[in-house]
Parts: sequence; C-alpha cells; structure tokens
Amino acid sequence: MKCGEIASRPVITVTPDTPLEKAVELMADYDVGILVLVDKENPKRVVGVLSERDIVRSLAGKAPLTVPVEKLATTHSIIYVYADDPIEVAAEKMMKYGIRHVVVVDKEGGLHGVISIRDVLKRIGGLRK
Ligand code: AMP
Repeated sequence: MKCGEIASRPVITVTPDTPLEKAVELMADYDVGILVLVDKENPKRVVGVLSERDIVRSLAGKAPLTVPVEKLATTHSIIYVYADDPIEVAAEKMMKYGIRHVVVVDKEGGLHGVISIRDVLKRIGGLRK
C-alpha cells in the first residue's frame, strides 16, 4: 500500500504565526496529534510540524498560550515520504527517527498528507504478507 493512499485524512495546517492556544484548540477539535506548519503564501509548502510532545514540552517550560507555534515546532529536517512510497518506508522512518508522524509529499515536494503511527499499526497485517 502506498503512503499517499494511507494519508487520506485532511491535514490540519496552521501558519507559523498561529498562537499556541489556537493550535491546541485545533488539535482537540480535529482529534489529531500533529499540526503541519505551512508557508503563509503557499499552503503546499511545509515549514514545520508541531506535535503533542512539543506542546507538553512547551507547557512544562511555562510557554504562554500566546506564543506563536513557529517558536515551539520542529522546523528543521522535516521527515517526509513521497506519496508513491510503500508504507514500509514510513514505518522505517518512524523507527529510525523515533517519531510518530511522517509528512507525505507529492512529486513536487508539496504537502499531500500525514501518516501517524496509528495508521501504520492498522495496516500491520498487510506488512506481514
Ligand atoms: P511525535 O512522536 O511524532 O509526536 O513527535 C516527536 C517529536 O518529533 C516532536 O518534537 C515533533 O515536532 C517531531 N516530529 C514529529 N514528526 C516529525 C516529522 N515528520 N519530521 C520532523 N520532526 C517530526
């Protein structure tokens, strides 16, 4: 199965200047563990990811709810797979980098979706084939 097919849920994106409070609301409303930060001018260009872990770390460090997400997110070395890659590539990257999410991009590098470790686990029977 291809990463592009698995990443079928709409991606919840924010721009880098979004306050933490809004980001937390979005995660709760959409029941997601990660938000993708995209360029203000180009919503296909990924500029970072903000996961629940980043939020826990920020709140433990007493970050105010007004802080823009770009200050808390991972903005360097985003781990991605191509929509045409098989699911094994996403699983390998999650293991290798110790992350629970990978960004899926199209051939041009534009945002296509996100795969979570839950998506991979759901298909583990298929992986064993
Ligand atoms: P996670 O385990 O995916 O919830 O995230 C753990 C840490 O890895 C957080 O600091 C995230 O910002 C970061 N992270 C998650 N997914 C990615 C990704 N695809 N590329 C780079 N960093 C990521």
